[in-house]
Amino acid sequence: PDLREMLLGRIKDVPDHPKPGVMFKDITPLLADAEAFSALTGALAELCVRYRADKVVGLEARGFILAAPVAVRAGLGFVPVRKAGKLPGATLGQSYDLEYGTAEIEIHADALAPGDRVMVIDDVLATGGTAEASLQLIRRAGGEIAGLAVLLELGFLDGRGKLAAELRDAPLEAL
Ligand code: 5GP
Repeated sequence: PDLREMLLGRIKDVPDHPKPGVMFKDITPLLADAEAFSALTGALAELCVRYRADKVVGLEARGFILAAPVAVRAGLGFVPVRKAGKLPGATLGQSYDLEYGTAEIEIHADALAPGDRVMVIDDVLATGGTAEASLQLIRRAGGEIAGLAVLLELGFLDGRGKLAAELRDAPLEAL
């Protein structure tokens, strides 16, 4: 009955991935558990309804795994935010800083209708860099942010703090 405990109990700590000193949160045991995966996507779909989303955006790659079933459950369309160079049509791009270097994400320029309320979904919020760039990109594509929802927030990295300005009044929900 306790969603939080069910979810946390199925996320595995993997030391030294993808490099020494990093404790990676592996969500694959949760995805492999039918009851937990269904409970997760159901809870995320409820957030889409609560915040009156028109579209669900998933962040490549693990965000796709969650956002696609959430979109179906909420009765909404799914829009991918991808790493640069993957989308076939005309795109808008947003680059952001990594620990070493930069990364760039893209969205199809016509993926959102003006004023579409977008629920942004990813698996893990770490430093907040990916999410911040995504919110900027979605707004540039004409969307409004209905909310940002993640399975897991790594509080010690304070992604929430980094995102505060870009979220404006939109909610950040970590299950
Ligand atoms: P950020 O940009 O917030 O630093 O990193 C978040 C992005 O990196 C998310 O797209 C997420 O999938 C990935 N990420 C960072 N750390 C982890 C982790 O420990 N576990 C998982 N599953 N993803 C992570």
